[in-house]
Amino acid sequence: MAPQVVAPSSSFDWKKLAFDLYSTAGYVKYVWKPETGWGNAEWVEQPYINLHVGSVAIQYGGSVFEGLKAFRQEDGQVKIFRPQENASRLNLSAEALSMPELPEEKFLEAVHTVVARNLDLVPPFAPYGGAGSLYIRPTMIASGAELALVAPQEFVFFVYVTPLGSLYGSAGGKAPAVDSIIVEEYDRAAPKGTGTIKAGGNYGPVLKYQAAAKKAGYPITLHLDSKTRTCIDEFSTSNFMAIKKASSPDATPTLVYPKSESILKSVTAKSLMDIARSLGWNVEHRPIPFQEVIDGGLEEVLACGTAAAITPIRSITYQDANGQQQKVSIGDGQNAGPHTLKLLEMLTGIQAGNKEDPSAWLWPAEGVDAAKA
Ligand SMILES: *Cc1c(COP(=O)(O)O)cnc(C)c1O
Repeated sequence: MAPQVVAPSSSFDWKKLAFDLYSTAGYVKYVWKPETGWGNAEWVEQPYINLHVGSVAIQYGGSVFEGLKAFRQEDGQVKIFRPQENASRLNLSAEALSMPELPEEKFLEAVHTVVARNLDLVPPFAPYGGAGSLYIRPTMIASGAELALVAPQEFVFFVYVTPLGSLYGSAGGKAPAVDSIIVEEYDRAAPKGTGTIKAGGNYGPVLKYQAAAKKAGYPITLHLDSKTRTCIDEFSTSNFMAIKKASSPDATPTLVYPKSESILKSVTAKSLMDIARSLGWNVEHRPIPFQEVIDGGLEEVLACGTAAAITPIRSITYQDANGQQQKVSIGDGQNAGPHTLKLLEMLTGIQAGNKEDPSAWLWPAEGVDAAKA
């Protein structure tokens, strides 16, 4: 039997939904201790946590996170996009920072519980996710206190949610293109560093460059590989993807995705590569020299990730060898290209249930069940 539908809250102003944190019914929390491993779920109503001032999370950056989304379907049910992928990536991040492994069942249980208890905060159904989603933020921190640089004796895994509008305005089939700029003064990740994991410490140093870029008219910042500064890595918060310039208008489209040791392995990018293959497109996963962009080799560029969904990029500004600022236009320099819009339609269509979901990416199959939380 399908779970009982819990309707979106009637007191929430869904039309004003932004990219922000809203108050919720609470969050779910698990504590790990050496004797017991991961304990049972605790429900916490207030969005706070009590930490020792010497906790490794605060002092040494012991903090990793995930981001995924739940979507309202046309029948009112709520389903989550590929949570198993986030469960496995969280463990990659945790392993890198000497944190304990979290079993997939525990991750899924936590995500299910927090969504089930906040079902009225999942925005109303709209075709292609046009009304937003419920953003889910699983987090693992080294909560124990240590003065020495060692892994502590206590860790906390918690999952909170917030209803979410669009980050760059992509929703409901519309996707305004944005201007991007390469961050020249700072590298977010080194080849043998932590760029492949979602460690909290990767994001703080980018804030000021992102803020400066935004002020200068570039909503999104791009990073080159730090070793050679010749190839494209990714945007500060999302992966880079492109459509290669076609030899003729009816040639098979080719999606290109950077191969790099220092980028975050995006679930959205992985999904888009599968979607591209299902559409019969070619997919190239290889290093992308920035020169290829300058030479006009890419006719569409997009940023992809859970928060950004798909954001079309209409220009990339960079500094040339003489330190002069140059701007490369992508496509018509104004609007999203047709292949970007096709990928957006397929991805958001699967998420909102407007398109078939052949690989069962939505979970649980019958919908999130408030009676099982
Ligand atoms: C989270 C994130 C992404 C996107 O990953 P998804 O799994 O698609 O949400 C891309 N790049 C960076 C740096 C990220 O933090």
